[in-house]
Amino acid sequence: MKLSGQNYISGTWRSGKGTDFHSENPANGDLMWQGRHSSQADIDDAMHAAKNASKKWGSVPVGERIQYLESFQKQLSQQSEELAKLISQEVGKPVWEARTEVQAMIGKIPASIEAFQKRAGNEEIVLAEAKGITRYKPLGVVAVLGPFNFPGHISNGHIIPALLAGNTVVWKPSELTPAVAELVIKLWETSGLPAGVLNLVQGGRDTGESLVSHPGHRGVLFTGSLQAGIAISKKLVERPETILALELGGNNPLVIHEIDNIDAAVYLTIQSAFLTSGQRCTCARRLIVTDGNDSYIERLVEAVKKLNVDHPDAEPEPFMGSVINSRVVDRLINEQKELQNSGGEILIEAQRLPLGDAFVSPGIIDVTNVKALPDEELFGPFSKLIRVPDFNAAIDVANQTQYGLAAGLLSKHRSSYDRFFQEVEAGLINWNSPTTGASGRLPFGGVQRSGNHRPAGSFMIDSCHSPVASIERES
Ligand code: NAD
Repeated sequence: MKLSGQNYISGTWRSGKGTDFHSENPANGDLMWQGRHSSQADIDDAMHAAKNASKKWGSVPVGERIQYLESFQKQLSQQSEELAKLISQEVGKPVWEARTEVQAMIGKIPASIEAFQKRAGNEEIVLAEAKGITRYKPLGVVAVLGPFNFPGHISNGHIIPALLAGNTVVWKPSELTPAVAELVIKLWETSGLPAGVLNLVQGGRDTGESLVSHPGHRGVLFTGSLQAGIAISKKLVERPETILALELGGNNPLVIHEIDNIDAAVYLTIQSAFLTSGQRCTCARRLIVTDGNDSYIERLVEAVKKLNVDHPDAEPEPFMGSVINSRVVDRLINEQKELQNSGGEILIEAQRLPLGDAFVSPGIIDVTNVKALPDEELFGPFSKLIRVPDFNAAIDVANQTQYGLAAGLLSKHRSSYDRFFQEVEAGLINWNSPTTGASGRLPFGGVQRSGNHRPAGSFMIDSCHSPVASIERES
């Protein structure tokens, strides 16, 4: 499908009125999309369109709303290959992985419908001479802001429940992935969604700030970094009535303790740390290894050295493609140097690759002897390994973070996992599964500074709906 570089407001495509910007294929520098940032006037128009469409969309029977969603699902299935290739080209992830992202988008629709039907039914109770009823109403207009790393799936995970619950949406995707966003909207357009129900405003941080600050919305569904989440919370400090769902970053621990299958543990570690070139919010950033696991470390190092990093569409299909841009590579290499200067021992060096500016090989550094380890999310294929004497120390170290998104334990003991589950602060706590393992049918969200307890996954529906209580008497 040909891309126009425009916004989609009230069912029409129009150019943004801000300054120019574009996106590039990080693997080869090809121009992917060219257009403009949205200005305040564009945001006003999009909000106005969403507001105008809101009353009608909110009163459309849910069965009809489901039909629109299913029509979009059909479009996604029919155009899945085109969308997967575009995701791969704009983000740099391998095509096989982009295909799984599109499948996740498709799967989101029945999962959201199921969650909606489970939670949003009218609930009646008998009161003294009256009937008590809980019913749900849409919020009205919601703003959705998404990150670059899953340019289709993550915003889709907010948009689908929001629309299903009868809200209208203004969507601002990442400025790094405008092409994917435009194609997704074209699929919605083809599926016949009424004008104004879903609007697209392209642009970067300024556009995001204008959108969040706009008085026209009733809620913000945001996924991105902690820093952006804090900035958004500050903008809404005078609006306590606004729903704010924040899905933020993590400094996720993976603890390796008393394993009986080293190969399986190595495989799960690689899936945890390096999938999507380490650009998943759930990637394991800290590998915490208890005493007695030297063979695991040796085999991990051997296996990571062999990982195939290549152009996303190369044959044979690579495990990792590029990262999103050369700035990520610079940051990662600098961080590695700083950790090394502070006493870190490089186990596998993250290195620039001659494939292009945005290619870097996966790295692991042993930081056991580094004092004052920075508690940060380094969003790339780089893990810190920390050796600890025992399981008590492993749990202490796992909790040495302000974040609390994902945590994993690789261990043969169920009892160790039970304790890990009780004591580790995280919203997703996996056992003998990668930290990156998640299901759209389970809640997905962090605790502490990784989120604000409004999980995505099937629970997102709860953030998009207001329960309204009534006590009713016939006379
Ligand atoms: P980012 O925070 O830089 O950008 C995310 C979105 O916020 C973009 O659309 C951006 O334009 C917008 N934005 C940035 N600053 C803003 C501001 N001050 N006001 C309003 N909008 C603003 O994140 P990114 O680099 O695109 O994505 C990577 C980050 O997202 C990582 O921290 C990762 O952990 C996180 N993430 C979290 C989840 C989750 O579900 N918890 C999932 C994916 C990614």
